[in-house]
Amino acid sequence: MSAQPLTATGGAEAYDVVVVGAGFAGMYMLHRLRGQGFSVRVFEQGDGVGGTWYWNRYPGARCDVESMQYSYSFSDELQQEWDWSERYAPQPEILRYANHVADRFNLRPDIQFSTRVERAMFDEDTSIWSVTTSDGKTVTAKFVVLATGCLSNARKPDIKGLESFNGPVYHTGNWPHQPVDFTGQRVGIIGTGSSGIQSVPVIAARAKHLTVFQRTPQFSIPARNAPLTAEERKKFRDNYPEIRRFAREVARNGIYTELPDRGALDDGDNERRSRYEARWQYGGLTFMSVYNNLALDKAANDTAADFVREKIGEIVRNPATAKLLQPTTYPIGTKRICIDTDYFEAFNRPNVTLVDIKTDPIEEILPHAVRSGGKDHEIDALVLATGFDAMTGSVARIDIIGRNGQTLNQKWAEGPKTYLGLMSVGFPNLFVITGPGSPSVLSNMMVSIEQHVDWIADAVGYMRDRKLDTMEAETAAEEKWVAHVNEVAYTTLYPQADSWYMGANIPGKPRIFMPYIGGVGPYRQICNEVAAKGYEGFAMTHAEQPRKAAVS
Ligand SMILES: Cc1cc2nc3c(=O)[nH]c(=O)nc-3n(C[C@H](O)[C@H](O)[C@H](O)COP(=O)(O)OP(=O)(O)OC[C@H]3O[C@@H](n4cnc5c(N)ncnc54)[C@H](O)[C@@H]3O)c2cc1C
Repeated sequence: MSAQPLTATGGAEAYDVVVVGAGFAGMYMLHRLRGQGFSVRVFEQGDGVGGTWYWNRYPGARCDVESMQYSYSFSDELQQEWDWSERYAPQPEILRYANHVADRFNLRPDIQFSTRVERAMFDEDTSIWSVTTSDGKTVTAKFVVLATGCLSNARKPDIKGLESFNGPVYHTGNWPHQPVDFTGQRVGIIGTGSSGIQSVPVIAARAKHLTVFQRTPQFSIPARNAPLTAEERKKFRDNYPEIRRFAREVARNGIYTELPDRGALDDGDNERRSRYEARWQYGGLTFMSVYNNLALDKAANDTAADFVREKIGEIVRNPATAKLLQPTTYPIGTKRICIDTDYFEAFNRPNVTLVDIKTDPIEEILPHAVRSGGKDHEIDALVLATGFDAMTGSVARIDIIGRNGQTLNQKWAEGPKTYLGLMSVGFPNLFVITGPGSPSVLSNMMVSIEQHVDWIADAVGYMRDRKLDTMEAETAAEEKWVAHVNEVAYTTLYPQADSWYMGANIPGKPRIFMPYIGGVGPYRQICNEVAAKGYEGFAMTHAEQPRKAAVS
């Protein structure tokens, strides 16, 4: 049952909480808050739920954390009843799951689809946010939760002549709802991050010819995707309490896996090789968990990087192509590691060509071709697998105005500043889910999303119980946290890569390491301790006068 909105003076609908976005974060946030009796309005710019899985419909799109773990844990009935078909479910199935959750928990009545939040302004007199949407309406809310997603602002590259291209141009992060058939076409794909790596083999199997434009080669591990058997599902289901506990409290990345007990240099060559080989055969993201120092020690990291480079060299038959596909300019794992199904194998096909645009940058896109290094690569269709303005991109597109008329974009001009990745000084009662300064994209996002949603829901409940009016990060706490996030990042090899974690894929974006690398377990503990100490580091105020839209 959803609590009814109040109507504030002036006629605007007044809610306790406005949530922006109806991906997995926004959906669970709505469910939690509604369960506590709050009135909630969710605005979603798409015309359906699912966020990432609503937008990213490109061929080959699937999760890279195993589905039995990349799923909600908040409802045991849900996790017991939903049958994942494969080890890594494909996008259509994950979207079906999101829709199932929306129906099962009756979320749709409180979500307004096809509506963008354009602006949110804080009124210091009333401590109320006014939220203006693309349909020209304004509602008010005591709290605003940004569940806008870390990888939801698709980045269109600025390439000369792009608009002049005669054929269709697709972005993997904003793919048409109808399947695209590349049969018999000459296709070009720009970008070899996770989306490019997933789509290349699938497009290559259909297209007459596929030209892959690569700026930076990636380390990618075979997924070894396969159908899930009933026994495999049962094994997870029977052990879910422990698997979920481990993922939340112990794992650094929110994934249940064996923890390494030694560093890469503690083993001799043969032993090390056989451990890497075993994980390579097992497949998936846990390759980086073979040893406990791969993210910390360059010499240790080199052993894993060499192993993967060697594998690429064995798979790809043309030595020149293999060399181009072997990453050498950053440590393995310091850009999000990819997992694939037959990505490197695709370059053995006679209809696939690799073009190195680091050496021969794209000069121009012509009506029928991509010109690089003075050569015209003729194509009929173009795929942009160019990623996202990660972590801050979707937040930055909303005009958020806090205390003293300061905008969040002004405050974050030199890079995002938050306390715990959850709130930012000057923006009371405004929460971000999986924001910069939290483990976020370095983790199984389901684990991080659920943790943030629970923490925010508890904080809002705490305020209601004590009749508190505003909650806001304190400057000292924020500064200390920002320094801590940086300090931890620089104890690792991560900042050595030009990655989207660093904002390096967006020209002009400040170079700071955005996610918190301290691990989801330790991070959760910090958040819990902060809450247990009465939200230490957050200033909470009582209302001096009756509020116009009170927390019900
Ligand atoms: C191809 C791909 C594969 C991925 N695979 C994995 C994986 O295997 N494991 C993993 O942990 N993570 C994965 N991720 C990360 C993934 O984004 C998260 O796991 C998770 O889906 C994020 O959920 P969310 O609700 O936080 O954000 P999103 O799913 O991005 O949802 C945010 C929603 O907010 C909406 N929105 C944004 N701004 C506004 C606005 N101003 N007004 C209205 N609506 C707005 C967007 O339309 C979007 O629907 C993947 C990401 C991509 C792109």
